[in-house]
Amino acid sequence: MTQISYFDIGANLTHESFDKDFMDVIEKAKLNNIKKICITSTSIEDTKVSLKLSEKDRNFFITTCGIHPHYADTFRESNIEEIKKLSEHPLVKAIGETGLDFNRNFSTKENQILCFNSQIEVAQELNLPLFLHQRDAHKNFMDCFNNIDLKVNAVVHCFTGDKKEFYDYLDKGFWIGFTGWICDPIRAEHMIDLITNMPLEKIMIETDSPYLLPKNLKVKGRRNEPKFIIEVAKKIAKLQNKSLQEVTQIFFDNSQRFFLL
Ligand SMILES: [Zn+2]
Repeated sequence: MTQISYFDIGANLTHESFDKDFMDVIEKAKLNNIKKICITSTSIEDTKVSLKLSEKDRNFFITTCGIHPHYADTFRESNIEEIKKLSEHPLVKAIGETGLDFNRNFSTKENQILCFNSQIEVAQELNLPLFLHQRDAHKNFMDCFNNIDLKVNAVVHCFTGDKKEFYDYLDKGFWIGFTGWICDPIRAEHMIDLITNMPLEKIMIETDSPYLLPKNLKVKGRRNEPKFIIEVAKKIAKLQNKSLQEVTQIFFDNSQRFFLL
């Protein structure tokens, strides 16, 4: 039997819900064929925690370094130097999460755009991929790349948009991450046709743990974990009429290429 390998490209493992049983969660992930996890960071302080966790198993974890749009109001010019310094760590493989979130607007739109533009610039300078977050801000998000000759890989994570947004991203050369959102028959109804017919060359999968537990799972506490990534792969395999083995191999190889591993 051929070995299946999963790469969870986005898990918020610094979240307090993992404080008590972090190693246990990782053990279970490994037993379920997860071979690599990218721990996503949301701030300078959070990046330091991500790195500390990553160092527990250097062959298994990588991290992102950056400031999430929710925290853009806290952004200072001096953060750029801190991001550069932290990114010297060999386990930092992307800048992010960065982007725009006009759904929650936890930070002002102006500050989100400023914080985002600065991190695009840093990623270009450091030659690191971008880990992107976009919610209810598609036009402004695309505008941030208008006058930029993007030389680094960029993934729009947790894609929940429509066909137009999807192909806008591909046209721009972006990669796209899918979460357990697509397992929700109601919230993902508009995406079924797209997922069924989309090309897989730039598709990757993620859990966004502890959020977005796949709807079909009945789990006490509703906490999502990396081991549940199989549900995302299964959903795409079924819609694409391909074997789980085949799509999983594609996603794993894509992820390695994306993060330049
Ligand atoms: Zn996000």
